[in-house]
Amino acid sequence: MNTTPLANRKHIGIFGNMNSGKSSLINALTGQNISLVSSVKGTTTDPVKKTMELIPYGPVVFIDTAGLDDFGELGTMRAEKSKAVLKETDFALYVLDAETDNDVPEDMLRLFKRFSIPYIIVINKSDKVPDEKISGMKEKYPDALVVSALNNQGVEELRQELSKRLTENDEEETILGDLLPYGSKVILVVPIDSEAPKGRIILPQVQVIRDCLDHGIKSYVVRDTELESALQDMPDVDLVITDSQAFAKVNEIVPENIKLTSFSMLFARLKGNFEEFIEGARAVDSLKADSHILIAESCTHNHTHEDIGRVKIPKLLNKYTGFDLKFDFCAGRDFEQDLGKYDLVVHCGACMMNKKALHSRIADCREKGIPMTNYGILLAKLNGILDRTIQIMYKNR
Ligand code: SF4
Repeated sequence: MNTTPLANRKHIGIFGNMNSGKSSLINALTGQNISLVSSVKGTTTDPVKKTMELIPYGPVVFIDTAGLDDFGELGTMRAEKSKAVLKETDFALYVLDAETDNDVPEDMLRLFKRFSIPYIIVINKSDKVPDEKISGMKEKYPDALVVSALNNQGVEELRQELSKRLTENDEEETILGDLLPYGSKVILVVPIDSEAPKGRIILPQVQVIRDCLDHGIKSYVVRDTELESALQDMPDVDLVITDSQAFAKVNEIVPENIKLTSFSMLFARLKGNFEEFIEGARAVDSLKADSHILIAESCTHNHTHEDIGRVKIPKLLNKYTGFDLKFDFCAGRDFEQDLGKYDLVVHCGACMMNKKALHSRIADCREKGIPMTNYGILLAKLNGILDRTIQIMYKNR
């Protein structure tokens, strides 16, 4: 299970004041000495991630954060970074130090609500205080769980409760299983060109194949160069799914009566807000000569997409609109703060990012009234095949 990608794991943020025992709690929960533990306040600086298989729930990632009461210029920045973790947090643990804390700060409770994050309050260091102190805290927070991370007391109960709450909050997710019935046939088009990684296929393609297997959908994986003969092999295919970058060529090959979409569009439906991304793509028709576009990628290290984000999409957008548009680029965790200046945000497929983090970005754009779309949907629009490629998503309408 250690190979489950981060983006597919539930993200559990651990928050609290300095020295409340957040790192010790992660170590106790994971049974490993991952986070640096010290009695010196403020040991955790940047958020630290640790993956584990949380039995019986499944794969999760714990995010250890710096103390929210950190102070000084650097400390305040660290505390702000901790709060930024909320944007990718699916579930939170708020750790109270039984020795020194009495309350969960109101602003944290407000932020949990704002980002719709379910949480458990954990009263830590139960071994260090008299029972009356714990009883007083439990009166205030009756649902809180009491632990001593140091002595491993209450940790198993916390693991079980966490598993239960994660299961309750889980939605059944499928990429294709709700779009095609059991026994359907799909052709997956995976161009093997200079941008394809050596010796493997990329994560979204792997996940689609797995989803096909999970739902009894028969998949036939081919390069674009073999697509025509694959269609002869399988003339009654129900759907062709292609890499968005091959849209123009694949659209010409696949007969009109066969549905067509892309990996990236399926993931936009799974992870993003599909309707908003479609509206975002249609917003290119309203761009003006001085429009300013932000191209955002979720990871910094994958150069196979550099060309599409930094070269191909700007070129195609300029060609489509007839303008020399202005582009900015951002990558990794630092989503552009000054969103207000943009007329359109175009996001990558976000395969390295969890759903919560992508939704936080969508919400940021929505709040500022900026249309947002993603690479795949925009490429469909720019190739004039948006309606064709979204048809499969609306099979029940
Ligand atoms: S996160 Fe975005 S840029 Fe990185 S590999 Fe996935 S789609 Fe490409």
